[in-house]
Amino acid sequence: MADLDVVVVGAGPSGMAAAAQARAGGLRVALVDQQARIGGAYWRHHPQDAVAEESAAHHDWATFRRIAGRLDGVELLLAHAVWALEPVDGGFVVRAARGEVAREPVRLEASSVVVATGAHERVTPFRGWTLPGVMTAGGGQALLKGTGVVPGHRVLIAGSGPLLLVVADGLLRAGVDVVAVADTGHPTAYGLRPSSWSGIVSRMGEAAAYTRTLARQRVPFHAGYRVVEASGDGRVERAVIASRGGRRREYDVDALLVSHGFTPQLELLVGAGAETLVDHDGSLVVAVDSEQRTTVPGLLATGEVTGVGGASLAILEGYVAGRTLAGGEVRPSLHERIAVHRRFARAMHGVSGGRPDVLADLPDAELVCRCEEVTAGEIRSACRDLGVDDARGAKLMTRAGMGLCQGRMCGRAVSDLAALASGRPADDGTAPRWAARLPALPVTLDQLAAERHPDAG
Ligand SMILES: Cc1cc2nc3c(=O)[nH]c(=O)nc-3n(C[C@H](O)[C@H](O)[C@H](O)COP(=O)(O)OP(=O)(O)OC[C@H]3O[C@@H](n4cnc5c(N)ncnc54)[C@H](O)[C@@H]3O)c2cc1C
Repeated sequence: MADLDVVVVGAGPSGMAAAAQARAGGLRVALVDQQARIGGAYWRHHPQDAVAEESAAHHDWATFRRIAGRLDGVELLLAHAVWALEPVDGGFVVRAARGEVAREPVRLEASSVVVATGAHERVTPFRGWTLPGVMTAGGGQALLKGTGVVPGHRVLIAGSGPLLLVVADGLLRAGVDVVAVADTGHPTAYGLRPSSWSGIVSRMGEAAAYTRTLARQRVPFHAGYRVVEASGDGRVERAVIASRGGRRREYDVDALLVSHGFTPQLELLVGAGAETLVDHDGSLVVAVDSEQRTTVPGLLATGEVTGVGGASLAILEGYVAGRTLAGGEVRPSLHERIAVHRRFARAMHGVSGGRPDVLADLPDAELVCRCEEVTAGEIRSACRDLGVDDARGAKLMTRAGMGLCQGRMCGRAVSDLAALASGRPADDGTAPRWAARLPALPVTLDQLAAERHPDAG
């Protein structure tokens, strides 16, 4: 008999909602997160801030307070990194490492598990993208929110999707000179996608506020432009963006923040045997039914791991999972709201989705896999000379994706480069299943040894 009814992995908006709802249904619930505080990527905290002082820095803070207030009776296991999830007879074993330095092994048993591990940011490589001072937009935001340090004083923000405006707004409030925002998509294209209109209505207020802030501070917004080059002496000093038609604009900067969307963190789910599918934005996501159940009995998934769609959708899915586990009925209106958000997410991917062909002009010498120092040229020659035609082949032949991050950063780019060089489409279901690798997070060998031999010191 498991100690717990449910372990929820990930205390972001979705995991918090799932845990609160399952607890409200009378279940014994543990909520586990590798970070020291709840809130995930959406409600990332300044470590020294008292909760009461934080509201100004966050969107939707009232929702955080409301869900957090419903976690009474939930066992909170923070600073616990889950590195394996194992289906066993009648439930699951969840293996975690507690603490940051001397990490102590923790083993949990539960009848059911909800995985809400979110997504990490994706950057499509471009000329000079590894220069110091170039970082992800969310990384720059996390630096500001988490430590109060600004990523730079003259900053260009480039890439695709709504996160660019959110980050620009945060930096402007912190007194940073945002020299421009460049989005590969055209926000006006939402107008051509009527299915997304109902989802847009709820976001119009927020979008209008960001647009006003940019206009007030005279920050140019370049729609249809992508970042093509970062250059400088030892760190980024200039950034170039270009339109599809070849029009170029150059900015002097001391930081360049880039984001091309998100990659769901599926390691635990894939390791436990859950089926996946390729979403509209080309990313691998876990397959779930309308109750958030994966194909593994007792294993549910919510939030960005089921498809990138934003915090509101993640919360709704969390509620559905919690209710499902507690045996409660899920109101049809909840499903309708989820459908509205999904339609909007689909439109958002269509409007801002990256095109793999932008990698065609990436110079051969440019690094793609930073951990193993594999260049674009090495991947191309593996395709040309060794018959490689997908990301897995590129990994085996070049070591791209074999380093510390296990392809989390470069996986999509390697896959797109292999597709471009070989002519075989990247999104035909052979998208990189590198996520299948356990452990989900780095663990020490002595921890692994202790897991195999529980009596070992
Ligand atoms: C860098 C970044 C910045 C963003 N900024 C904004 C923004 O400003 N505004 C906005 O509207 N949306 C933003 N988003 C999107 C928004 O955060 C998401 O839509 C929302 O947070 C999704 O909720 P979630 O619960 O699915 O995932 P998350 O909020 O990502 O939560 C996942 C949680 O799981 C934990 N976790 C992951 N793996 C493990 C593991 N193996 N063991 C233990 N814990 C684990 C993580 O620590 C995290 O707390 C941002 C996303 C990212 C990645």
